[in-house]
Parts: sequence; structure tokens; C-alpha cells
Amino acid sequence: MIVRKSTEIYLDSNATTAVLPAAAQAAREAMEDVYGNPSSSHISGLKARDILESARELCRDVLGARDGQIVFTSGATEAIQMGVFSTLCHVREQRLQASTDADEPRLLLYGATEHKAVPQAIQHWNHLLGIGNRIVEIPVDEQGQLDLEFIREHAANADLICTMAVNNETGVTVPLDDIESAIREENESAMWLVDCVQAVGKFQLSLSETTVDYAAVSGHKIYAPKGIGLLYVRKGSPLVPLLAGGGQEHGARGGTENLPGVAAIAAVLDQLAQSDTKTFAAHQQLLANRKRIVTALKQAFPSIVFNTPFESSVPTTINFAVEGFQNKELLDLFDAAGIRVSSGSACGSRVVGSYVLDAMGLPKWRSEGAIRMSFGPLTGESEIIAACERIEEAGRALCDSCRVLPVSPMQSNSEPVDGLVQLKNGSMCTWCLMDAETGNAIIVDPFEELSSRAESLIRCQQSNVLAILDSHAHVDHDSCRSELLAAVAEFAAPSAQTDDLLGWPAAVDGVVSMEDGTTAPFLQFSSKWIIAQVELPGHTKIGRVYLVGTKTDDGRLPADQVELAFTGDMVLMGGIGRTDFPCSAIDAMYSSLRRLCKLIAPTTILCPTHDYNNEFATTMQRERDSNPFLSSIVCDASPISLETFLKQKPEIDQSITDETNSELICGLIKGPTTSCESALEIPRGELKAFFGKHREAWIIDVREPHEFSFAQDWSELGFETPPKNVPLTRLAGFLPAMVRMHNDAARDVIFLCRSGRRSGVAASVARRLGVTTAKHIAGGIALNVSTRCVADDWSEPGYMI
Ligand code: PLP
Repeated sequence: MIVRKSTEIYLDSNATTAVLPAAAQAAREAMEDVYGNPSSSHISGLKARDILESARELCRDVLGARDGQIVFTSGATEAIQMGVFSTLCHVREQRLQASTDADEPRLLLYGATEHKAVPQAIQHWNHLLGIGNRIVEIPVDEQGQLDLEFIREHAANADLICTMAVNNETGVTVPLDDIESAIREENESAMWLVDCVQAVGKFQLSLSETTVDYAAVSGHKIYAPKGIGLLYVRKGSPLVPLLAGGGQEHGARGGTENLPGVAAIAAVLDQLAQSDTKTFAAHQQLLANRKRIVTALKQAFPSIVFNTPFESSVPTTINFAVEGFQNKELLDLFDAAGIRVSSGSACGSRVVGSYVLDAMGLPKWRSEGAIRMSFGPLTGESEIIAACERIEEAGRALCDSCRVLPVSPMQSNSEPVDGLVQLKNGSMCTWCLMDAETGNAIIVDPFEELSSRAESLIRCQQSNVLAILDSHAHVDHDSCRSELLAAVAEFAAPSAQTDDLLGWPAAVDGVVSMEDGTTAPFLQFSSKWIIAQVELPGHTKIGRVYLVGTKTDDGRLPADQVELAFTGDMVLMGGIGRTDFPCSAIDAMYSSLRRLCKLIAPTTILCPTHDYNNEFATTMQRERDSNPFLSSIVCDASPISLETFLKQKPEIDQSITDETNSELICGLIKGPTTSCESALEIPRGELKAFFGKHREAWIIDVREPHEFSFAQDWSELGFETPPKNVPLTRLAGFLPAMVRMHNDAARDVIFLCRSGRRSGVAASVARRLGVTTAKHIAGGIALNVSTRCVADDWSEPGYMI
């Protein structure tokens, strides 16, 4: 068995595959040796034509297409267009010949889980050719199987029915015999197009034994290069060229043929046809590979749910979701672990959720969190074994970073977490303040959506939860404080058990004098910090701000010693909390804002309950500078009067629209203030030289610890020791130190991550708060490190069956 030397494991074969060496060799020969034009009549041309026609014969063998036509195309999308276009041209022709209109509207049917190329082609040509048929989606059940009754009901009026042999996102196999019966019992003449892209190489097709009119195949899914595919057309079915030209492809497609591509796909099909060469793994081996991966996944992610129904799917596709994880998080984790997977079909990767899984009626979280792992019939056993090891390693990394709970506490090697952790889901922020020395923890503004993450953190750190606090009684949801408290009961200190509406302990460690001369109750959180509770109503009648800072020996909490302020929805990034709820106290908001300003320093980090623009945290100084209304309230010299405030504030609240993500917006928020100046465009390959020149800079990797933990050859990027890791969940807590460091010595702060997306966010956050030297590596480090995928040596004899 071959041992991989590569650092990258490719499990995204449904998106595309590497090129089989024999295929690359065939393409090379077609470019270097047999480069004639197949239409030329000289010997070079004849040789090229021989390659073309032999390839066509091979396609017939592999597809079981004794008769009918094989037309080479640029890929499956073109082949699908050709089938749809030919059908609709034929329909138009027939209508022109028939004088009467049809009694009932004619239909174009397609499966709800088809690749987008199918419905898009249908819509496009139906519109462009002026056919005007009704386009109808065939529903699927929870297993992804087409509703045969629906097909039977609608087939009689259909001109075209499009189905797929194997789904690209789930691997679900659709039994062609059953569909054929459902169609043909009702309609002998409707055209039937089958997308066979994900079926070839995985099971035998016998197209001539079916009434399939068109079948589409793509080269780059079966180890041939991109840019080659084919359309099978049943004998006698309409075929109208999409491209008119020199009569190539027996008149079906104009344009000189892509001979290197044809030679390559032929080389692949040749190996497929001669199954005794053992290049393509047998079904049993594919099943064994899947079993291995599934076992590793279950081990790594105990809350995994598989979206692929394994009994009715090809063994090469595993679609799953992990409860409590967005797919982006898992994609980042797998990418860091050197496993390339995808979040659905490659074309739809930017879309939230999967229309395939939605059509199957799966819950939203399974669709939005879906990950697809797909291997091919040439993925080596050694690669599968290595993938499983890395999957298990990824699971361990999640435990170590306290992102999930280990099955047994012995399995966790987590480092003590010290400082502020910001858990985010959409705009919602739950804050966990952790002290490594004492093990104390305080959770502020627990959201249900984030409570399992908070629970994992507490359990994994075996913390002593002093309190779970709400800043206010929420308008649109109940606090999940008591549920979270119950979930971490064995880690809750007696102080956390309280009847207080917002969770403040009944017994405190004392009272502290505040900057405005008032006193506030406090809890001793760590040797350094206390947390004081101040009643500051406004957004709601009961509203509190929790201040974290250092108490002086004479029992004061001076404003400049307040490091963090949990401000709830009172002061948010880009706005102040709304006061137009029945439970709001608008006049109290005026005095609360003025009071807050006195209790904290201009640079105290404000930690709100909501972050609508991905800005993480803020300071009073920043908000005053950017919000003239806030500034006019808290301004020391000549603040606006309460009367003016009471007049202006309702007008501001009225302009709030709650449309963003259909959630209730808790304050008027201005758009984000991102700065593009922070992007460092460093030419590819020059990152090492760049870091060499910037040894003084503070380099910060913002990936989550479970990603950062995967071995990276930092020396490749010019680092003797790895850079500092401050994940985005820890950024807010890190800001005070960063601002201080920047004020002391204006050192460059350079953020980096894999793709440049998260480092860009971090640089904007730092710049907003005055770290003017914050920059980030645009494009990330991914293109600067050598994670080249070295495919297994497929030529090795006895490689795998
Ligand atoms: N059909 C299916 C099922 C696919 O998976 C794909 C590719 O993602 C296509 C069609 C489109 O193929 P091509 O990239 O060759 O146009």
C-alpha cells in the first residue's frame, strides 16, 4: 500500500477529480504528437479522427449505448442544454405543424434535487424559444426519491422530463427502471433526459436498454480534465445543434473538437471498460471506504447526523451535519486539518442552506450545516485511512478547544481559558468571562442558540460558575438562563442560584464606590477583577450594566480601571438601544447614558448583546465620535436637555426597520464602518520575505484554536515560532491590551488567517477602536503555503480494488 506524502487529502470528488495519469498522458500525446485537426483529410487529420471515433466507440461500450448518437461537448452543462434545446425546438416544430392549440397547458418536469444546470436550462430555452410550457418541479421524499405518483399524474401532459441517476450533494441513487415505468405508462413520446454525471464509474449503465432520450456525462467528475463531456442521444430522438459551424460531430456540434479532452476521457473510459485492470475500485471496496469514514466521523463528532440515506446511495458521497455547528465552521476545521470537503455543490457554495436537503424536507439546521465528503473510485485506501486519522484529530482538536465536549473527560487536553470569550450566532452575543487561576466563570446574556457552546466551555474547563446574568429582560425571547444553569448545575457556585430576575446573586462580596459617588454591589471575580452591577434602565425598565475592573484598596472602582462593560442593548456598535417597547423607560435612558459615561473610561471595551455589523465590540469614545446623537446626550459641556431627548429619540426609533434577517433590531444601527486600507496585498510567494522584514510587527493568527492547532510549517512563512493565536471569539477581550500596546509604541499589528476573510474583519475591528497600525494579509496565507495535493501513485501495480 502506498503511503501518501502529501499534506492535503482531497475528499471533494463530486466537485471535480484529479486527472488520471493515463488520461493526462493521452491528452499530452494528442497535443504533442497527434495534433491534427480531425476534419483534415491528410494523415495527421486521419490519425486525429481515429482517436475521436475510437473514443466514441468506447463511450458506447461504457454507457451501454449500442445505438443512438454520442456527441462530445464541453461538459455536462452543455450536454444538458443540448438535450433541452433539441426537445424544445422539436416541440415548437410540432406546434407549428399542428393547427390547434393543446387543451391543457404542456409541462416541462424536473426533479426537485436536480443540479441547477437542469432547471436553469429549461427556464432559459422555454423562455428564449417562446415555448411557454409550465415548468413543474417533481417533489422528492425524505430519502431524496422522486414522487412516482406525481410523475404518473403529470407525465401525460409533459413534453420533457428531467431526472438524475445519482444526486451530486447526497449521493442518492434514483432507480431508473421505476421512473421509466412511471413515465412510459402514461406517455410514450415525452423526451426523458437523465443527468448521469455522478453515476459513471460508480455503476454500470445500459442506456440502449432504456427509453432514456438524452444522457449527460462530464469528464472532470471521472478523472478526465475539465472542458470535456458528452451527450448520449437515443436513436430517433431530436438533435438540434446548439453551435452551427463546420459540421463537426456528424453535424450535431460545430467547432473543432477538443481532441486532447476526448483522448483523455477515452483513456479513463478505457480503464473503466477493462475492469480487470483494477484501476477503479470495486463496489465492495467503496462500501468499506465509506464505512471507515463514517466510523471516524461518528468518533470525532458524537452529535453528527447523516443527510445521506446510505442504503439508497452511492458509497462515495457522505453528506452530514453536526448539531451546534454552522458548515462554515466545519469547513474551516477540515481545511485546517488538510482535508478538502465542501458545503454542498461547488456551484452553490456561497448559498446558505442546500436546496437539495430543503427539498427532502430536512430541518433547516441540517441543510444550513451540511458538509459533503465525496471520494472517487480512484481514492486510495491509504488516503482513506489518512483521512480518517485526520478526521479523528479534528474531533480531538474541537474537544481541546472546548468547542465540543469529549466523550470522556480524560480525552480533553484543553488549555485553561483566561479572559473574555465572545460566542456569536448571527447578531446575538453571549459573553463568557473566564479566570484561569481560580476557574471562576461568569456568563452574560445567554442566548439559547449559544447555550450548548457555553455549556461545552464550562464543562470542558470545569469552571466554577459564579453567575449567569442577563443585562435586561428581552422583548423577543425568554432568557435561557435557568436552562443553562440547570445544564451546568454541577459547576454552579451557590451564588449562581438566585431568584433575581436577571440572575444577580443574593449574596455579594461587598459594595464598591463608583466614580459618580454612588455605590454598586460587586462579586470578586479574580485576584485582579471584580464585577459590579449598576442599574441602568432605558431600553427596558429593568436594565443593568455589569462593569469589570480593578477595585482600589480603598474600595473604589475608578472609571479608568473599568476594563469591560457588558452594556446589553444600551450602547451598541453604531447606535443606542431603542426605547419604544412597552417595557422601555425612555426618560431613564437619558440619565442612564449620561451616568454610564461617568462610570467608565472612554476606552473601556463595551460588550453589547447584539452585533449587527460584525464589529464585535466598541468603546464609548468610538461611539461618541461616530454618533452625534449619543455625543449630544453625554457631552459634558452642553448636553441636550431631557426634553429634547424625549422629542428626538422616538423619531429615531421610528426609523428602525426590523427587516434585517427578519429579527427584531434592538437599536438604530448605522452601516458598518470597515476600512479597506488595512489590506496588505503581498504578491504570492513573497510572504516569507515580508515577515522577514517586519520582525517588529505583532503578528496575530485569528483562526480558532482547533484550526490553529493543526501543524503548519510556520518556517515556510519565515517564523521561528508560531505567531500569537487570538481567535475571533477572543478578539474583544484582547482589544484593551492591543489598544494599550498601540498607544505605547505604534507597532504594526498584522492579522492573518487562511483566506483573509476573518483577518480582514479583525483588522477593521482594531482600526475602528484606534489601532491605526492594524493590517491584514489580503488573500490569506493559503496561497503562500505548500499544501499541494500529491495524488497517490495510481500506476502502482496492485494498488487497490
Ligand atoms: N450535473 C451534475 C449532477 C453535476 O454534479 C454537475 C457538476 O457539478 C453538472 C451537472 C455540471 O457539469 P459540468 O461541470 O461538466 O458542466
